[in-house]
Amino acid sequence: MNIKNCPKCGKIFSPVGGSLICKDCIRAEEQEFERVRDYLRENRGADINIVSEETGVSTKKILKYLRDGRLEITDGMGDFLKCEKCGVSIRSGQYCRSCAEKVSKNLSSVLIPENRDEAPPKAKMHIKKR
Ligand SMILES: [Zn+2]
Ligand SMILES: [Zn+2]
Repeated sequence: MNIKNCPKCGKIFSPVGGSLICKDCIRAEEQEFERVRDYLRENRGADINIVSEETGVSTKKILKYLRDGRLEITDGMGDFLKCEKCGVSIRSGQYCRSCAEKVSKNLSSVLIPENRDEAPPKAKMHIKKR
């Protein structure tokens, strides 16, 4: 059996589905995320620094949620999240829409969403025309 030391708490665990940290730490992270999400639900447009203060979750982590597309910037939060290619301000993810399209054309294999359950096996990537 594949066994690892959790880099966060040092506990020994067996990684499932390529997870890097143990279940307890995943749950703790999940709870942090939910705190931020719930806070934002009740305080739309709260400044990221205030969100961080109120939830005890670091701004770095909140930014990561945004980069991962798990959270979206609401109106009034400011435009601190920028497209990594062209620098235009975005609400969520890494790239603005047009860069994301370009990137996904070039790097489709890299950008397949991590959502393993939903990705049908061997499906060909195609871009829908709108
Ligand atoms: Zn752990
Ligand atoms: Zn861009």
